[in-house]
Order: sequence, then structure tokens, then C-alpha cells
Amino acid sequence: MSDIINLLPDSVANQIAAGEVIQRPASVVKELMENSIDAGATLIKLIIKESGNTLIQVIDNGKGMSITDARMSFERHATSKIKGAEDLFSLRTMGFRGEALASIASVAQVEMRTRREEDELGTFLEIAGSKVFKQEPIQTNKGTNIAVKSLFFNVPARRRFLKSRTTEMMHIRNEFYRIVLVHPEIQFELFEDDNETILLNESNLKIRIENVFNRLSKRKIDQQLLPIKNESQILNITGFVGRPEFAQKNAQQYFFVNNRYMRHPYFHKAVTMAYENLIKYGENPSYFIYFDINPELIDVNIHPTKTEIKFEDERAVWTILHATVKEVLGKFQIAPSLDFDREEMLDIPVLKQGTQISQPKTNFNPSYNPFKSTTTPKTQKVDFNWDKLYNDFTSENKQTEERQLDFQTIESNTDIDTQTNLDLSEERKDFFQLKKTYIITNVKSGLMLIHQHRAHFRVLFDQLLQKYSSSEKTSQQVLFPETIELNVNERERLLELLPKLENIGFEIKRETENSFTINGVPAEFEVSSAVSLLRDIILETEEIELDAEEILKEKIVYILAKKSAIETGRILTNEEMSKLIEELFICKNHTYTPDGKTIISLIGVNEITRLFA
Ligand code: ADP
Ligand code: MG
Repeated sequence: MSDIINLLPDSVANQIAAGEVIQRPASVVKELMENSIDAGATLIKLIIKESGNTLIQVIDNGKGMSITDARMSFERHATSKIKGAEDLFSLRTMGFRGEALASIASVAQVEMRTRREEDELGTFLEIAGSKVFKQEPIQTNKGTNIAVKSLFFNVPARRRFLKSRTTEMMHIRNEFYRIVLVHPEIQFELFEDDNETILLNESNLKIRIENVFNRLSKRKIDQQLLPIKNESQILNITGFVGRPEFAQKNAQQYFFVNNRYMRHPYFHKAVTMAYENLIKYGENPSYFIYFDINPELIDVNIHPTKTEIKFEDERAVWTILHATVKEVLGKFQIAPSLDFDREEMLDIPVLKQGTQISQPKTNFNPSYNPFKSTTTPKTQKVDFNWDKLYNDFTSENKQTEERQLDFQTIESNTDIDTQTNLDLSEERKDFFQLKKTYIITNVKSGLMLIHQHRAHFRVLFDQLLQKYSSSEKTSQQVLFPETIELNVNERERLLELLPKLENIGFEIKRETENSFTINGVPAEFEVSSAVSLLRDIILETEEIELDAEEILKEKIVYILAKKSAIETGRILTNEEMSKLIEELFICKNHTYTPDGKTIISLIGVNEITRLFA
């Protein structure tokens, strides 16, 4: 029998690599722009036609390539950036696998024009599906000009896999932002279907951030940014964080490490926790944070499409980052005082002199009653056995301990005596509200404190999730339909989400290009904040793929529940408190909110006795 193992032809090997590196038009944008930056360009133009389907072109004024390099650059593992494995660990340039151009040329039609300063004539190359069709000398500007046409022309499956034009364009723009935000010293231009959509002159970082984002939001970003800076042995941190009073739903949040965009939920928490109690539920601070760290202390980002990066000492970085942000908020006199009270803070924010304050808007209808039995789905009437509930509560508490760590939530959690039980029937069942925030009630083993907003958040989350799973949606008509204005990205996301939103009770009509009216909302939701609810849904589900049905549904329910839950600061009647607690204990996990915050704490009798010792 003859041997059966073959070497794959280069074109096939390249296509396989392309499957990893080039997932969508935005990946091409990223690779080409990074190459231009590595080539020392001071001007980079990005030209997109039909969301990259017909054309992705990057023109730079960088160092260009010789004839041989131009030809070589399309070979697999061709790179001028590393020579040996040891280089991998000290790399600060952008790409380094030498795979991008080879991959792109294997799944598209590519034309390259390139010339070095010292050469009189440049090189023109035409490659498609890894085959070179043309190579000739050409008169061209200094630098490199690469046009990628008909992406995935020979991989129909990939082509079909692409999302709508609008989604792909959103990915391209996001990729563009991630790059321009680390290189204010470079001039960038973005052309979309022949219109110049973004022109960014060379500037400093602050102005770059403003130039990129002022266009996107009505609230100008100019006065929002506070500079941060911290130098330590582990890393240097620079950048800007937004003033708390400018926190909003669609905040811009960016981390970069050694000039590369990174996603890092754990560090994100370090930043947002520094804002704790300074901003309202559901609002987010903007930040643009740049880490400069010895590359040996982070995991080399071998995979070019990954944006997650591992740090050797994440805890130390977390602490430094958290302290740095907190300090700057304090310096600008916006950190809470020691005896901080959330309610007062929200009413009377302490601002730096001269800060412009915009009229606070409230989206909540004060007469809204979340306990209305007509709108809240019926809860199963259970035989109310506090003993059992409490035992469940304590064992649940143990179970969720691990989960709690994941969320990195720092919450004081009173030790709960597992031996005692929660027997309300023995003594008078009284509910008492503290600071319009906590419900206090007596149980056999002491005093139980329940955070009213968090408790209701959990209750609604569980109820709505169950309801939408059984698809028994109900809609309510809006008497005075409100109009929502969206920017391009938001509009496109909304159009994609529409069928799903209609499934849960929204009625939304497109009015003009970018405006929509909301004629109906899910029955459980208060009509008065429909616009802000919808905006939250659009923004907060941005990263979730449409076909991830379950995750998407859960996220939407999460937002609905969080927004509809009674706020702190509302006075509750005895009946309301009793009902809330009853409903809370029906939830499987009544100790933590869906985002991992503590709902219940217990002050034991022992502790109370000690107070009187
Ligand atoms: P990598 O960037 O990982 O080295 P690429 O396939 O992206 O691999 O590029 C291969 C090589 O082609 C680069 O190492 C570089 O020498 C050259 N090159 C690519 N793009 C440019 C450009 N815009 N200007 C100058 N040289 C470039
Ligand atoms: Mg590269």
C-alpha cells in the first residue's frame, strides 16, 4: 500500500490560517492598519466600500517595501518583525505572526502598490486566492497602498456567515477606534462609500479622544475627562477617566496594553468600583486607560484576533488601577466623604467649582407601583414555611460563595448562623424601612436586612425570565409615543434586534432614517422610561451575537428587571415590604442579585447582645 500522507498546498494552508485570522472585513482592517503603523506611517487612509464587501483599502506613507520584500510579504510566516522565538516575549510591535497578508491574499483579490523612499520605481502586485497574477514596476507614492477586493470570493461559506452590512460596518468602525485611540500622533482618514466620514488630524491624546467621540454623542466629552497617571514597578498607567456626573448608558470604555486594545472584565470592575456610589444604577463611566508594562509580565498575545490578555499579577494591577482611579476622583473633589450616604449623594453631587451641570433627568414615574398585581406575573402561591426558606437561604448562601468570587464583588456579608432558623410566626411580623433603602425585619436569630432595590431586581429577573421562556408576552400601549434618536451604530443594532424585541412586547416603528417611535412596551415596564430602556438594551447587548438567543434574552430581561425594580429612596408600605420578601424567597437564588450583589444580610442576636455587654 502506498503512503497516504500529503503536504497541503500553500494555498490551502493559507486558507486554513485565514479562517482564524480573517473572520470578517474588520479583521482585514485591523491587520492592514497595524502593518501601516509598524511601517512608521504618519498618515493612514482607510477606504471602505459596502461595509468591506467590495473594497477595503489602506493607504499609508510608511517606509514601503523593496521588490523582493513586496513579493515575500505575501508568503506564509513572512515577517520582518521577529527573527527567533525569544523575540516573541519582548514584542511591542503590532503583528508578528507573518500570517496576515498571506491569509488575506488567500481569500480575496489583493492589489498592492508600494515604494520605498530611496527607490525611483515602486512595485505593483496582483494576487488572488494565493496566486500571483501580475507583478510589475509602477510609479507610485512613497508608502504602501493595499486594496482588498471581494473578500471571501472563494470561500462562499464564510461569505454567507457575514452579518448584515450594518453590523460589519460597526465592527469596522470599532476596530478603527481601537487603533486611532492609541496613535494620536498619526493622522487618520476614514472614507465610507466615497464620503469622508472621519478625519483625525495629528493631535494629543485628549483631543484625539474628543475628536473621535464628540461626533457620537450629544454630551460633549471635552469637559468630562480627568487625567490619570500612576507609575509603579509593575506597570505605568496613563489615560483619562470620565467625571462621574457625565456617566451615561453608552459610555466609551477602553483599555489598552502596550498600545493594543484589550478587553478585561476584571480590570473593568476595578475602575467601576472606584465610582461606586458616585453614579446611578445603570449608568457607566467612560474611560480610556493605557497600560505600559514589561511584555514579559503579560502573556504574549499569540493569537491575533484575541483581545483578552493575561497578566502575571492581576491582583496587584487591579489594586493599583482601582487606587489610581479613586485617587483622581478624590482629587477632583468628587469622591464620597467618609460618612457617605448614597441618597444624599445623588441629590447633591459635590462638583468641582465651575463644572457645568446639566439638568438631571429622571426617567421614573413616581406613581408607578411595581407591586401592581395586574402587571406582575402571578407568583405561585406557596405554603409559606419560613423554616424551610431560611434553611434554603443558608445553604444557597454557601453554594453561591464561589460564584460570588467570580463577580469580584466586595460586599460585607454578615456571617449567618446556620443552626438558627427563620421563624417569623413566633414573634410579630414587622417590617421597617431604613434610609428608604433597607427593609428590616425580625427573625428568630436576629435582624434581617434586605436591600429593597436588589431584592426586587432579583424577583423581577426570575419572573420575567420564566415568563418570556413560556412566551406568554403581553404588551401595553403607550399613550404618548416617544421618539428615540439613534446614531448609525445604534440604529443598525436596533434594526437587528427588532424581531426579538417585538417578541417580548415592544412595538417600535421607524420614522426617519435614524429615529424610531415606541408605541408599545412590555407590560411589566413603566411606560415613562421606554426610551432610556430601549437605549440600554441597544447598547448593553452590543457585544452579544444575535444567534446567541438565550444569552440575548437573559441580558434583555436583566436590563428590564434592573430598570423596573423599585429604586432606593422609595417609601414602601408594610404590605409592599411583606409581599416583596415573600416573592424574594420564592426565587431560587435570593441571596444575590443577577449581577452578584448581596441582597440579604443578617445581624445575629449574639452580635446585638454584644452591643449591650
Ligand atoms: P506581520 O505583520 O506579522 O509581520 P504581515 O503578513 O502582516 O505579517 O506582513 C508581512 C510583512 O510585510 C511585514 O513584516 C512587513 O515587513 C511587510 N509589510 C506589511 N505591510 C506593510 C506596510 N504597510 N508597509 C511596509 N511593510 C509592510
Ligand atoms: Mg501584520
